[in-house]
Amino acid sequence: MKNGILLFPLITLLLACCHSPGDDAVVMTVNGTILSSEMGVTLSHEHVMVDWIGADSTGYHRWDRTEVVERVLPYFQEITGHGVQAFIDFTPAYLGRDPFILQELSQRTGLQIITNTGYYGAVENRFIPEYAYEESAEQLANRWIDEFENGIDGSELRPGFIKISVASNKPLSELHGKIVEAAAIAHLETGMTIASHTIGGRPAVEQVELLKSLGISPEAWIWTHAQSGSLETNLWAAREGAWISLDNVHHNPQLTAGEKGSIEWYAERITELKQAGHIEQILISHDAGWYSVGEPNGGDFRGYTDLFDYLIPELLNNGFTGEDVEQLFIKNPQRAFEIRLRTAGKGEIGGHDRDRGWRSGSSLEPIPGNDSPDISTSSGMHRDPF
Ligand SMILES: [Zn+2]
Repeated sequence: MKNGILLFPLITLLLACCHSPGDDAVVMTVNGTILSSEMGVTLSHEHVMVDWIGADSTGYHRWDRTEVVERVLPYFQEITGHGVQAFIDFTPAYLGRDPFILQELSQRTGLQIITNTGYYGAVENRFIPEYAYEESAEQLANRWIDEFENGIDGSELRPGFIKISVASNKPLSELHGKIVEAAAIAHLETGMTIASHTIGGRPAVEQVELLKSLGISPEAWIWTHAQSGSLETNLWAAREGAWISLDNVHHNPQLTAGEKGSIEWYAERITELKQAGHIEQILISHDAGWYSVGEPNGGDFRGYTDLFDYLIPELLNNGFTGEDVEQLFIKNPQRAFEIRLRTAGKGEIGGHDRDRGWRSGSSLEPIPGNDSPDISTSSGMHRDPF
């Protein structure tokens, strides 16, 4: 039911007149810090470009910036037409992150764009740089902290959050436990939120428990691709304070209404989380794009409008109010990506926690629900959550 709701220009207008003074929380965009309240309507998980070649071969030499910008620009103009004001780019280093392209797109469209630091451990560590195996959690964290404090690759462009990923449906490996610990150290030093690509309940629960043991509040952690987990595990993580990111929303005509991954399925999961009192912890996005490096003119591209064309109308038809929509697409992203320290209790950083058997099938409390991330990948443009 494509009716392209133009809800947001109206909401943005309303917000502009009732912004609460003194709310000085900030986010870090590629053009520097702005007040989080200036983000407006936000796409909280998308991609401009991705390079799947691997950490040992990727680099700025692999793509033509002008070609990428020209290919992506029309899709950005489309979303500004829907009232979008901020775009969170989830492409990590060693997988096609190019802050210079993001800065140019921001300057040419007026969109606030936030990039990230961190390393991506999923897909058998293909996108992890060699030195990450040798270096300690502290050393890795210092690299990410340095980007936040001094800029990326000698530039003034800084990351606004930490993006990591771990292996799907498995206990945390030693390397991925180290990456989570590095993210904890970098959060404590910078206040950057940790967004973790996490497929399935087991690695989600292990990360929440590990972060808490390191003194980090789950409020500083985004379960990216939480749609891969059961409702029970989503609710468990939300009760712990975590952000629940449902981020592969797209209209897939090959799915029947209500089938896992369909628009109706997402609306149902959002409704269940809302009814459980967690509407202020939900992030929703497409995980769309992107310019695929190495493919002619970047290959197939999935635009960023299905939220406006399909999901929001579905929510409004199922009892959600304009205020709920504002909460989901404006207020929640603002708070989720604020640069702000979020600690929990007395935690310990520095190795010994790991002696308490976080690794290799450790005896954590049972994983609620039965998480089988069988998000269908049958049809055309749909890609696995990234
Ligand atoms: Zn993604």
